[in-house]
Amino acid sequence: MSNDAGSIDDLNEDDIGKIKDLVATDGYYTQAEIVKVVCPACGEEFLGTKRHAGGFIAGHRAFHEFENSQDAIIQQMGGI
Ligand SMILES: [Zn+2]
Repeated sequence: MSNDAGSIDDLNEDDIGKIKDLVATDGYYTQAEIVKVVCPACGEEFLGTKRHAGGFIAGHRAFHEFENSQDAIIQQMGGI
């Protein structure tokens, strides 16, 4: 590649807190800060841009709420 923009696939722990220009599948990110987030419900970790971290958090929240609602329905029906 002729430019110095990194790929979103090349991130590692050393990039946390750095500001980068990144090429991702959904667009070209300039001045993107690399962050690491951990899901409090299951402990899964994500490393990437805030944009993608937001998707990770929202996705996990939706998934765990879904999981919890399934458990609640099962309990209402008297358990498995
Ligand atoms: Zn999770």
